Amino acid sequence: MIPYGKQDISQADIDAVVEVLRSDWLTQGPTIARFEQAVAGYCGARHTVAVNSATAALHIACLALDVGPGDRVWTSPNTFVATANCAIYCGATVDFVDIDPRTYNMDVTRLSEKLSVAKAQGALPKVVIPVHLCGQSCDMAAIHALSREYGFRIIEDASHAIGGQYRNAPVGNGRYSDISVFSFHPVKIITTGEGGMALTNDPLLADRLQRHRSHGITSDRTQMQPRPADEIWNYQQIRLGYNYRITDIQAALGFSQMTRLDTFVARRHEIAERYDSALAKLPITAPWQHPDAWSSYHLYPIRVRQADCGKTQRQVYDAFMAAGINVNLHYIPVYRQPYYEAMGFKAGYCPEAEQYHKEAISLPMFPTLTETEQETVIDILRQNLTS
Ligand SMILES: *Cc1c(COP(=O)(O)O)cnc(C)c1O
Repeated sequence: MIPYGKQDISQADIDAVVEVLRSDWLTQGPTIARFEQAVAGYCGARHTVAVNSATAALHIACLALDVGPGDRVWTSPNTFVATANCAIYCGATVDFVDIDPRTYNMDVTRLSEKLSVAKAQGALPKVVIPVHLCGQSCDMAAIHALSREYGFRIIEDASHAIGGQYRNAPVGNGRYSDISVFSFHPVKIITTGEGGMALTNDPLLADRLQRHRSHGITSDRTQMQPRPADEIWNYQQIRLGYNYRITDIQAALGFSQMTRLDTFVARRHEIAERYDSALAKLPITAPWQHPDAWSSYHLYPIRVRQADCGKTQRQVYDAFMAAGINVNLHYIPVYRQPYYEAMGFKAGYCPEAEQYHKEAISLPMFPTLTETEQETVIDILRQNLTS
């Protein structure tokens, strides 16, 4: 079986984890800060807050930006459900901006039009969450310019995109947003088993992210209320937070994986280039790359257009599965999920995202994919698209 994505764990990764297991700190120890500093240094972000998933990072990012009941959060329909759920956790409502048919990211023209209508209705969003699908950055300069015009805040869901670049600078540097979020799930670019991170350049937001990660508790005297000197107050809860902490065991794996991040991304580019050249001769659509973005290539989705190749997405998908190649689909438009349809969203709401859903197949893409395995994947496509 060839999966669509998979972690790459080295002996050095294993040794790093074992070292923490033998140390005094399994959690709340020094390895978490080491990992956070490594990512901050790589990305050029001032503050990094490691948590136990990207979902948790998205939740505390919304909380740090004061998303609450009555607020609106907009995102792309072409994402994992967690990107939208984080707003619901905070009591806000979610809406979706259709995708650009070339990049599959949030379409900035549509965003601009939707903002102008929302302004007239007094229904502007508080936060917009662009998603860097496949690891290719959204048009952040344009989204940032719109945020200035309409007064919303930006969380980049960069779950796919650590190691990627936008305009020759690392994704996550915060130049065009308030907070960026990475995921360290095993199918993503680097892994901690489960894990995520929120990055920001704003010290106030960083402080809030830290508070929300651990119960809303602080032991910083300057933030604590004065209490009688004869009572012991070694911490105070000043906001409502959660236990979203990552462990030192996971952080050790993350720190070790960071040393190979560039190698992972370079290998993903090699695989993408081989797909690009093999697939150029086939009647399918390969992922287009925007000149401003240097993708981390978390995913390599092809689009199967029946009019071009005589096969349906379902037929090609089934042919892969029958051959033991576990391709995948990223994504079903979030609002088509029964939970979201129950809020009133209907089929037809974002036509580009729905067309993509009917055509996309994510091919195997991970650093340890062998040339032979990749040839097998390409052969299945050749057999199914040219017969
Ligand atoms: C994986 C993913 C998430 C959630 O990440 P977890 O670490 O599994 O919580 C959120 N958004 C996107 C776009 C993702 O791909």
